[in-house]
Parts: sequence; structure tokens; C-alpha cells
Amino acid sequence: MPLSEKEILQWLQETDEARIQELYDAADRVRREYVGDAVHFRGRIEVSNICSRQCGYCGIRASNDTLRRYRLTREEILVCVAQAVKLGYGTVVMQAGEDYGIEAPWMAEIIRTVKRETPLAVTLSLGERSDEELQTWRKAGADRYLLRFETSDPELYVSIHPPAPGQTPNNHRIEQLIRLRDMGYEIGSGVMVGIPGQTLRSLARDIALFRALNLDMLGVGPYLPHPETPLGSRSVRPLPPGEVQVSNAEEMTYRVVALTRMVCPEANIPSTTALATLNAAHGRELGLQRGANVIMPNLTPACYRPYYEIYPAKVCIGETSEQHFEKLRKRVEAMGRRVGTGPGGRTRRVSSP
Ligand code: SAH
Repeated sequence: MPLSEKEILQWLQETDEARIQELYDAADRVRREYVGDAVHFRGRIEVSNICSRQCGYCGIRASNDTLRRYRLTREEILVCVAQAVKLGYGTVVMQAGEDYGIEAPWMAEIIRTVKRETPLAVTLSLGERSDEELQTWRKAGADRYLLRFETSDPELYVSIHPPAPGQTPNNHRIEQLIRLRDMGYEIGSGVMVGIPGQTLRSLARDIALFRALNLDMLGVGPYLPHPETPLGSRSVRPLPPGEVQVSNAEEMTYRVVALTRMVCPEANIPSTTALATLNAAHGRELGLQRGANVIMPNLTPACYRPYYEIYPAKVCIGETSEQHFEKLRKRVEAMGRRVGTGPGGRTRRVSSP
């Protein structure tokens, strides 16, 4: 029986450590049954930190003028792609701010080159873009699109994610995900855990929506305050009586990862960099033991990494891509898991429950 929204909420409210451990164990079992022991590595290329939006939580928002801005060249991107092939990754994820200097034909040509010259799956995470652009990239061969809806609470969403000029104040991301699915993309989404103003009730609704949208990939990570943002420097807003603010500590994120696995057993779920930032020693492993089956190592050229600062003190900014991969591979193998091969798209159950 799938968990109802009410049961999800009860799990989020649970305080008994032994019960929480039962949830983690159940999520680990479901992960093994449905997606197996392979941990898929997706090489993340942070293509640009230029952004036209004003998201209240994000350090690369347009009005942060303390940040040096960059956009990789086609050649720099293709060097990262070659690195992904060399390290044996099955997928590259091209992520950026909402940078309209990333023009559709330019990106389409890069996608075509990657698809022609490598066996890699291509995932895009370029924010809210027009249907025409998304179609162009799909036709060029892009396989997947990641777009977190961040929160299903309409009021909270609008307060942290102001509309673009000409847009109505709504969460357009949910509609865009549905259109992306119709275009033939595998779709990924997710939320931040512990945004100021996020209640346990609204987080339970987010997790129920993961299932309703039948998402192929789901990323959840803790909200990490950035001092150069309105949310990072503001005190927490009061909540209606009876509502409880979601904690952004790592424990709550593991719980959300585990519940996500329970409601979307076949999904690809990363143990996120934000989690590893909160707990550099064990965060990735604990995510992988509580429902996750994907890691997204950074392939961005080292000289640009400090500038893709969506939140402060991101891990792994001081390593080369090879060092980073080797370290992660050893950690995965030490857990008795193996590094996945091939593109690692959405899988069907590997054995009966
Ligand atoms: N421009 C793209 C990519 C954004 S970065 C887009 O908007 O989809 C990817 C994700 O990082 C965001 O969706 C958000 O969930 C997360 N993120 C941004 N700022 C963060 C912060 N301060 N703490 C934790 N996660 C953050």
C-alpha cells in the first residue's frame, strides 16, 4: 500500500529514533528491490552562473553583484564531456542559472555533438525556458530535464521565486514538467528541505506530488542559507498557529529522501551535494543508505567552481574531476555497492519484493 499524504506527514512528525530507523531500513530495501545496488554517476557541468531571476534563496540570483559571472565556451564544455567519457560516467548534466545568453541553437549544436560522438545520456537543468527551446533541445537529442518545483505551497513559492517579467505569479514549473514529459523527456524535480516558511504539512504535500507527477528523477537537499540573498539574511517569518517549520538539518533531509523512495520506488534519487556539504564525512553514504541511488560529481573546470555558488561552502571545489571521482568510487565500493555503467535511465524493478 503506498503511503498516503497523512501517513507521510506522520513520518515527518515522528520523533522516535527506532521508528525512524525502521523507515530508513524500509527505504533501503525498496531501493535495492526496485533499482538495485548500482550507484549511477552523473557528471555535472555548471555551464553558466549568469541568471536573470531573483530567487530569494539562491546565491547566483541576478542581483548578487558580489559574484564574478562566467559562461563556459563550447570547447570548455566539450572538454568536460570528454572527461565524463574517460571516467566512465553514463550521463552529463548541464546545469546553469536562467541564462538567456545560452541560446537554443548554440546549446542544440553542443547536444548534437555529444550525442554523435559519445554514448552519454544528456540531462539539461537550465531553468524555465520556452516550449520552443525545450523542443529544439529534445530534437537535438537531450534525454532528460531537471527542474525542481522547490515547494508545492503556492504562496511560499511566489514569495521565494518572484515571477519573471510578464509572468503571472504562479508555480510555472509544475506545468513545464508536464509539458517536458509530453515532449518525450525523462523528467526530474524535487524540493529544498527547510526553506524558511515551509511547514511539515506542505512538505508532506510536496512528497505526495512527487508520486502524482510520476517523476523519473527526484533530488532533495537541505536549504542552505546564502548571506547575499534576501532569505539568507532575513529572520524566519511567523507561521500560522499549529504549523511547524521544517528543519534544514541533515536528519530531516534523510527522512525526505527515504519517504521519496517509498512513494517513488523506481525513481533515480541522488544523494545530493547539499547533503554532503552539511556532513562531508558521511552525508553521501547516509543518503545512499536511506533511499538514494545516484551521485552527481562535479565536472566543472576547477577555476570556475567557486563561482557557481548557489549556497556557500559547497564541497569539492578544491579537487580535480579525477580526484573527486576516485574518492567517490572508493566510498561507494566500501559500502558494498558498485558504480553503475551505461546511461542509467529509469529502470523497472530488478526483482520481486
Ligand atoms: N537555474 C536552474 C538550476 C538551479 S540550481 C533552475 O532554477 O532550475 C539547482 C537547484 O539548487 C535549485 O533548483 C534549488 O533547489 C537548489 N538551490 C538553490 N539555492 C539553494 C540554497 N541556498 N540551498 C540549497 N539548495 C539550493
